[in-house]
Amino acid sequence: MKIIRFSIDGSIKYGLLENEDSVREISGSIYGQIETKNNTYSLAEVSLLSPCEPSKIVCVGLNYKAHIDEFKRDRSDIPEEPVLFLKPSTAVIGPDSNVELPDSSSQVDYEGELAVVIGKKARNVNIEEAGDVILGYTCANDVTARDLQRKDGQWTRGKGFDTFAPIGPWIATDINPENLRIQLYLNEELRQDSTTSNMIFPVLRLVSFISEIMTLLPGDIILTGTPEGVGQLKAGDNVRVEIEGIGTLKNTAVKRL
Ligand code: MG
Repeated sequence: MKIIRFSIDGSIKYGLLENEDSVREISGSIYGQIETKNNTYSLAEVSLLSPCEPSKIVCVGLNYKAHIDEFKRDRSDIPEEPVLFLKPSTAVIGPDSNVELPDSSSQVDYEGELAVVIGKKARNVNIEEAGDVILGYTCANDVTARDLQRKDGQWTRGKGFDTFAPIGPWIATDINPENLRIQLYLNEELRQDSTTSNMIFPVLRLVSFISEIMTLLPGDIILTGTPEGVGQLKAGDNVRVEIEGIGTLKNTAVKRL
């Protein structure tokens, strides 16, 4: 199923995608039991929101070899363990919202990524158990102020601006994350095109590894790294992340006011 968080007439609701173009309202908790209700809305009449509200976004850097190569890093830079960083929850925006480009950066890049949505509190789960704590998957854009990332060494500023974590359009459950085509279009031009089978550390390994460090809570997001083809976003650009079996996340870049 595909779980949608949306607003209509000023109230925020959850629902399930039906027939590609409508949403059936649900009640209960998406992390527990849900019940379907009688109300349906057309997708055109609702505003899609980020499909969950993470307490934290745990991100993996350098998880595709071809992306390491494009930064002209040495093969010895292929990490032996996942390289992690965090984005604040306040960076999250939903589909169709604007990515705001701050004045303090002269190079803000897009990075299309598969996002894992955690469904259950998870601490010290092994690889065999990791699938049980995943609710599903969505598309993400790990927006990055590349110049500030390089300048600081620490990545918090470059990765942490408000609006730098677009996620959506919904959470797809019941899909296998091991070999999904992932593409990013900038103004309708294909810029990234890979498959999640090229990850150095696959999804279940990441969930297990991270859960040994910090407790993952329902709704938390793991960004699994970007493939090659990253590039710059300019004001007015439309950026679209498409992942097989999930859907399309669309956002527009604007100058931050
Ligand atoms: Mg990234």
